Amino acid sequence: MLHPDRLFPVDPGTRTLARALYETVASAPIISPHGHTDPRWWGENPAFSDPAALFVTPDHYLTRMLTSQGVPFEALGIGAGAETDPRTIWRTFAEHYHLFRGTPSRLWVDHALSEVFGVTQRLSPETADVAYDAIAEKLALPEFRPRALYDRLGIEVIATTDSALDDLEQHRKAQASGWTGRVVPTYRPDAVTDPDVPGFVQNLDRLGELTGCDTGTWQGYLDAHRARRAFFAEMGATATDHGHATPRTADLPRAEAEALYDRLRAGRAAPGDAELFRAQMLTEMARMSAEDGLVMQIHSGSSRSHSDAVRARYGTDRGFDIPIPVSFTEALRPMLNAVGLTPGLQIILYTLDESTYSRELAPLAGVWPCLLLGPPWWFQDSYEGMTRFRQIATETAGFHNLAGFNDDTRALCSIPARHDVARRVDCAFLAGLVTTHRLEEDEAFEVLPLLTGDLARRAFRL
Ligand SMILES: [Zn+2]
Repeated sequence: MLHPDRLFPVDPGTRTLARALYETVASAPIISPHGHTDPRWWGENPAFSDPAALFVTPDHYLTRMLTSQGVPFEALGIGAGAETDPRTIWRTFAEHYHLFRGTPSRLWVDHALSEVFGVTQRLSPETADVAYDAIAEKLALPEFRPRALYDRLGIEVIATTDSALDDLEQHRKAQASGWTGRVVPTYRPDAVTDPDVPGFVQNLDRLGELTGCDTGTWQGYLDAHRARRAFFAEMGATATDHGHATPRTADLPRAEAEALYDRLRAGRAAPGDAELFRAQMLTEMARMSAEDGLVMQIHSGSSRSHSDAVRARYGTDRGFDIPIPVSFTEALRPMLNAVGLTPGLQIILYTLDESTYSRELAPLAGVWPCLLLGPPWWFQDSYEGMTRFRQIATETAGFHNLAGFNDDTRALCSIPARHDVARRVDCAFLAGLVTTHRLEEDEAFEVLPLLTGDLARRAFRL
C-alpha cells in the first residue's frame, strides 16, 4: 500500500539524494509539541474500544468529507440516536474510502493501517471486515494500549492541550505511574480570555476559586493567570496556546483595561468589547510569557462551527471550521511593540491563510527575534501544503525562524504518518536546494535533523 519513494521528487538525481537524506531521519524520535490527544489515554492507559472509535468517529478530517457527500452524522456514531455498532460504522467508512483519494487523510489512514496494524490490503467494501477484525484483535492486546503505542510509535515527547480550568489530574496520574513516556500539558486559556465562550463569567468565578485570587478585579484576574501558568509549568508545560479568530492585539492604558474587564465581568459589554479584550489578553499573555518563559502559540484564522444546526445538534469540532482571511502585520503591532524585543520571549504563529506566509509571516518572523513560524497546519498539513510552505516561507525566514513540525492531531495512530509526510517533503525540498546548487550536500544533511526534531525542541523548550 505504501510506496517506499512516495512524495519524493521524480528526477533521478534529486530522488537519490532525497532517499539518502530520508534514510538518516526515517526512524528519528517523534517530537509532538502541539496536539490534542486525550490526556486520559496517558493517565489511565485504557484499551481503545474498537476500530470505529479509534479511526472514524472522533476524526473530523474524515467525518467532514463523508458529511460533504451526504453521509449522516448518525451513521458515523455521532449525535442522538446514532449508530452504535462499530462494525457498521466501519463498513460505512470503508464504502466511502474512495472519497479520500488524493487527500492527506488517505495517506495517513493507509500508513496507520499498514504500519501500526499490519493491514496491507487497500480499504474497500470488500476488505472492510478483514481490516476490522485485524484491528479489533490487536486493540485487545496490551501492546496496543496508549502508553505502549506511544513507545512503539517512537514518540519522545507529546503535548496535550488543556483548559486553564483543568485540574491536570490525568497528567498527574501519568507522572505518578512510573511510566517513562513524557506527556506535557499546554495552557490554553480561551475559556477565560474569550468573552464569547459560553459561560465566560462563570469561568472567571471558577478561575478565582482555583487560584484563591479575586477575579472580581483586573489585577486579581491577571494574578490568577500567573498562578495557573505556574501550576501548568510545574506539571511540565512549556507552552501556552491561544485560539483566537483574529490575531488582533492591543496594549491599553491600565485604567482602560480595568474598565473593559469590569464591563465584561458585570455582563455590561459594549459592542466590540469582546474582540478588544481578546486583543488585550494576547498582549498580557505575551508579557507573562516574557516573565515565566512559557512559549506562546497564536492560532487564528478559523471561523468555527460554520453550520449553526450542526453545532446545536452534534457539537463543535465536526469539520465545520472554515478558514477566513487574516492579516497579522498591523494586528500584532501593539503586542510586538510592547514586548517583542524582550530577550528570551518566544511566540509561534500559525495561519490557515497561506497568502500571509510570503506577504506577512515570513517577513515578520524574519526580523522580530521573538517570532517563530509554526508549520503549515490543518488544511495545509499535506504534501502540497508543506511544499508550498517551504517554497514561500524559507527564502525570507530561513530555517532557524521556524518552529519545526507538529502534528496538531487527536488521532493517535496518524501521528507517525504525519511526521513521515513532513520528513519526506523536507528531504525532497533539501534535495532540490542541493541539485539546483543553492546548498551544499553536507549542509542539507546538517539542516535535516533541525527540521525533523531540533527546531521543535528548541521552539517549545523541550
Ligand atoms: Zn491545535
